[in-house]
Amino acid sequence: MVLASGGRTSAGSGPDGYALARGLGHTVVPPVPSLFTFRSQAPLLAGLAGIAAEVRVAAAGLEAGGPLLVTHKGLSGPAVLRLSAWGARVLQACGYAFDLAVDWLPGLADADALLRERIRSHGRRAVAGDHATPLPARLWAALVREAGIDLQARWADLDRDTRLRLAGALKATVLPVTGQAPFKEEFVTCGGVALGEVDFRTMGSRICPGLFLAGELLDIDGVTGGFNFQSCWTTGWLAGRGAAGWRGRALAMGPMGGPAAP
Ligand SMILES: Cc1cc2nc3c(=O)[nH]c(=O)nc-3n(C[C@H](O)[C@H](O)[C@H](O)COP(=O)(O)OP(=O)(O)OC[C@H]3O[C@@H](n4cnc5c(N)ncnc54)[C@H](O)[C@@H]3O)c2cc1C
Repeated sequence: MVLASGGRTSAGSGPDGYALARGLGHTVVPPVPSLFTFRSQAPLLAGLAGIAAEVRVAAAGLEAGGPLLVTHKGLSGPAVLRLSAWGARVLQACGYAFDLAVDWLPGLADADALLRERIRSHGRRAVAGDHATPLPARLWAALVREAGIDLQARWADLDRDTRLRLAGALKATVLPVTGQAPFKEEFVTCGGVALGEVDFRTMGSRICPGLFLAGELLDIDGVTGGFNFQSCWTTGWLAGRGAAGWRGRALAMGPMGGPAAP
């Protein structure tokens, strides 16, 4: 028998696959969502839905980089999804309420030096309208507002504290996250049947002879990029071959475990 009933969001027609696996003697590492988006009502994000930027994000001692997308409900994009995968358990443990630090210019080591240079060279220009960074104009204006700078203010008007606030907003904006995407909106499940209980050569159960396991039901989850599909396809192929081999062996044994009739 091959058990390939998917992760915690897979809708089945009977008991869920974890219950079936447990019933057959397997240990199930507690399943939690992975690859999910973050909910946030941070004022900075108001009006920014659809904006994307290449960022570095950090929370709960973990970091991830890549494109970030502002949505109507919060944050998505590969950087967020990666962080949700690395932090699947720790973010669940904190109830998906945490502070997310966003570095909007990960390629820039010294944001304050950039701003000082701007003050020297573009002193008469309005800060909010001056494209000092590769960030989308709407995001730049929002960060300028976030730093408490009047939208009419010119570079030459910035005092040291204000300039440092803007540098801080560019390199480490803190956005309170208040939750994760709703149930069934995550892409994959972290946790599942304990891997030590499966023979990876055939995907055969080490607990229940004749049982083969494949796919997301297992305690395997990857980041975005097709790794979850690949894991499901590979383990499915191995389990199919394993089960076919087992059936051959069972038939060869004949009824009641004795040798088969010629
Ligand atoms: C929106 C979304 C986007 C994704 N994008 C990507 C991506 O880009 N790249 C990537 O690698 N992965 C992605 N994934 C993850 C990937 O789709 C899954 O990891 C993979 O499809 C799991 O395959 P599976 O065969 O193990 O389970 P499933 O595809 O979930 O199949 C399990 C099947 O078992 C059936 N079943 C369950 N219980 C029972 C039961 N008791 N009786 C009978 N039948 C039952 C279910 O109905 C279902 O048909 C995405 C997932 C989602 C939800």
